[in-house]
Amino acid sequence: MRTIGLLGGMSWESSAHYYRLINEQARRQLGGTHSAPSVMVSVDFAEIEALQHAGDWDALTGRMIAAARQAENGGAQLLVICTNTMHLMADAVQAAITIPLLHIADPVGHAITEQGFKRVGLLGTAFTMEQPFLRERLEHGFGLDVITPDTADRGNVHRIIYDELVRGIVTEPSRATYRAIMHRLADQGAQAIILGCTEIMLLVDQADSPVPLFDTTTLHALAAVDAALAEGAA
Ligand code: GLU
Repeated sequence: MRTIGLLGGMSWESSAHYYRLINEQARRQLGGTHSAPSVMVSVDFAEIEALQHAGDWDALTGRMIAAARQAENGGAQLLVICTNTMHLMADAVQAAITIPLLHIADPVGHAITEQGFKRVGLLGTAFTMEQPFLRERLEHGFGLDVITPDTADRGNVHRIIYDELVRGIVTEPSRATYRAIMHRLADQGAQAIILGCTEIMLLVDQADSPVPLFDTTTLHALAAVDAALAEGAA
């Protein structure tokens, strides 16, 4: 099994789930006391979040490239960026390393198309909902029709991620807010909803949604194990 490189700390609340998910999946696949060889480079999210809100994506790209090289130098044989938002610079990161980057949108797109859904709602940070990097990969790569909440709802989705979820705060009022937003997306024709921020799974689960949920954290982590175990891989 190849060594999985994880770019984590964005936030560590979700990175901890990635770590558990990849190890549980390795044990399911291989049995016994098997677990997943991995290296994690975990950053200080306060610095990342400040640069995001300052709009300094060049500095963030530099940070992600440095972290990716650190993971590769530490023995990673494939790379997983444990956040949707920081896929904004996925192409630049891939170009700077020699190991493959497993893009978070791809296992999600595959899972949705396998189930025959076409029109999907996307929840995530404002960066993810409003910039094209994730939506276009899903639309162009998988033929999906991606819709996002209206301006006010996007604001609430974003605020709850940064003010609460990345700080480990999970509240019932915020769950109710997300539930209402997911119902509105379904009313607009969403046949499924993508939890396109790796912390949203801390707040809601399938019981909160009128349509099937596709959680990027789980799908990405499981795909990383599949890739690490893939036929022909060292
Ligand atoms: N983990 C979140 C995501 O999946 C947000 C934190 C970040 O900005 O990286 O987008």
